[in-house]
Amino acid sequence: MNTLQHFVSGAMWAGASMRTGDIFNPATGAVASKVSLASAADVDHAVAAARRAQPAWGATPPPKRAAVMFEFRNLLNSHTDELAAMLSAEHGKTLADAKGELARGIEVVEFACGIPQLLKGEYSEGVAAGIDSFAVRQPVGVVAGITPFNFPAMVPLWMYPVSIACGNAFVLKPSERDPSVAVRIAELLTQAGLPQGVMNVVNGDKEAVDALLDHPDVDAVSFVGSTAIGEYIYARGAASGKRVQALCGAKNHLVVMPDADMDQVADALVGSAYGSAGERCMAVSVAVPVGEETADRLVTVLKPRVEGLRVAPYTDPSSEMGPVITRQSLERIRGLIADGIDAGAELVVDGRGLQLQGYEDGFFIGGCLFDRVTTDMSIYRQEIFGPVLSVVRSPSYETAVEMVNDHEYGNGAAIFTRDGDAARDFSSRVKIGMVGVNVPIPVPVAYHSFGGWKRSLFGDHYVHGMEGVRFNTRLKTVTARWPESIREGAVFSFHAGSETRN
Ligand code: NAD
Repeated sequence: MNTLQHFVSGAMWAGASMRTGDIFNPATGAVASKVSLASAADVDHAVAAARRAQPAWGATPPPKRAAVMFEFRNLLNSHTDELAAMLSAEHGKTLADAKGELARGIEVVEFACGIPQLLKGEYSEGVAAGIDSFAVRQPVGVVAGITPFNFPAMVPLWMYPVSIACGNAFVLKPSERDPSVAVRIAELLTQAGLPQGVMNVVNGDKEAVDALLDHPDVDAVSFVGSTAIGEYIYARGAASGKRVQALCGAKNHLVVMPDADMDQVADALVGSAYGSAGERCMAVSVAVPVGEETADRLVTVLKPRVEGLRVAPYTDPSSEMGPVITRQSLERIRGLIADGIDAGAELVVDGRGLQLQGYEDGFFIGGCLFDRVTTDMSIYRQEIFGPVLSVVRSPSYETAVEMVNDHEYGNGAAIFTRDGDAARDFSSRVKIGMVGVNVPIPVPVAYHSFGGWKRSLFGDHYVHGMEGVRFNTRLKTVTARWPESIREGAVFSFHAGSETRN
C-alpha cells in the first residue's frame, strides 16, 4: 500500500519517524493508502530547510517572486482535473465541488501575483525640518500553516501564496485525513520555479503540530480548524512568541424575512447547508424564519428538496452530495441528531436510513432537516459539521438579530429579504465577520479578507487580501535626516557598483 511522504527542499522525503496514519476512501470505508506522521525531528528538518532558504528568497525582488506565482497559476489551471480527482478520492466531495474549491484557491494565487503593488510602502516627505519618514513591509521569516480536512486544497492556498509572495518560507502541515492534494500542489509550486526549501510540507498529527508551535525558528503560525484546537494553537503558539492567526468553528444563521422569495431561499439553503455534506465552515446550519407563517412556508418548500438530494460517491456524475470524512464523524453526527430528537426538536427529514448499494460501509448520511429547534439544544449550540439544517422559529426580526449575536460563533450570517432597510440594519448590527444579503455563503473574494468574529477566530488578522499581507509581514518605519551638504558643483562618481558623492 502506498505511503505518502513529506515534501522538503523540493523533493519527496520519507522522514525518520516510523509512524503512519490511514487515509480512507470515505465512499467505501476502506483504507486506501497511508501517510507518514512526522516526528519532532522530522519537523525540525523541514523548518531548517525553510530557514536556510528564506533569506535569499526574501531578498528576491517582488516582481521575480510574482513571476513564480504567475507560472504557478498556469500549472494549477492545467492540472485542475488531476487535482480535483485526487481531492475527491480522499475527501469524498463531488468533482464539481473539488473544482470549485480549486478555483477559489487559484484566485488567491492571482491576488499574490500583484505582490509588487501590494508591498508598496508609504512615504512622508518633510515630517519635520529636513526629516522624511517611510514605512516598508518585510517578511516575518518562516511561517507554518496547519490546515483542516474540509478544503484540503483551498485552505492551504488561502495561506502560502500570499505568505511566500511576501518573501517568507513556508512549512505546511495539512490534515492527515486527505493530505495528497496539498503535497501535489507543493510539487507544482516548485515546478513553477520556486527555489528549493521555500515551500515544504510535513505530514502528521498532534506531534508535528506541537513541534511547529514550539520551534524557535518558526516565526508565525496560520491555523484553520475546529475551535477547541484553534484556541490551543493560539495559546501555545503565542506563549512561544509567535504571531498566530487561528480561524475556527462556526454556526452560520440565515434569517428569512416574511417578504423573501421562498423558492430562492430554499434553493440557497439546500446548496449552502447540504453542499459538501455540510462540511464547510461557511455552511448555513441554522435557518431563522421570522414569524410562524414564514416558518411554515419555508419548511413546506424545503422538505421535498432535502428529501430529493442525490447522495452518491464522487465517481457518479449525478451526485449532489458525497459521504462525510470518517466513521467517527458519521457517528458524532448521528449522536447529535439523536440528542436533537431527545430534546424535542422535530426531525422533518431523516437521512439516517440512507443505504447505497455497493457502498454499505461508506460514511454516507442523507440530508436531515430539523424544525422547532430551540437555542438551548445541543444541535443549535454545537457545530455539527454534517448535512443537518436546523430551523429555529423567531417571533420577530429583533429576536433573530439577538440570536445571531448571542451565539458563541461569529463566522458568517445571511439575511434574505427584499427590504433594503432591514438588510442594511442587519449588516450593520450583527457581530459576524462575513455577512450575506440574499447571498447564502458570503465568502469574500481573494482580494478581500476571510475571517470571523467571537470564537470563530483567535488572533487579529484574517487570511488573504490585505489582511493576509499584514499577517505575513512586519512593518518597519524609518525616520531619516540627512546632514546638509554643499550641493553647488557637487558631482557623482561611480566605482565598481558603489556610488560616492564628491
Ligand atoms: P481539526 O481542528 O480537527 O484539525 C485541524 C488541524 O489541526 C489538522 O491539521 C489536525 O491535524 C490538527 N489537529 C487536530 N487535533 C490536534 C491536536 N489535539 N493538537 C494539535 N493539532 C491538532 O479540524 P478538522 O476536523 O480537520 O476541520 C473541521 C473544522 O475546521 C470545523 O470546525 C470547521 O468549522 C473548521 N474550519 C474553519 C474554517 C474557517 O475559516 N473558520 C475553515 C475551514 C474549516
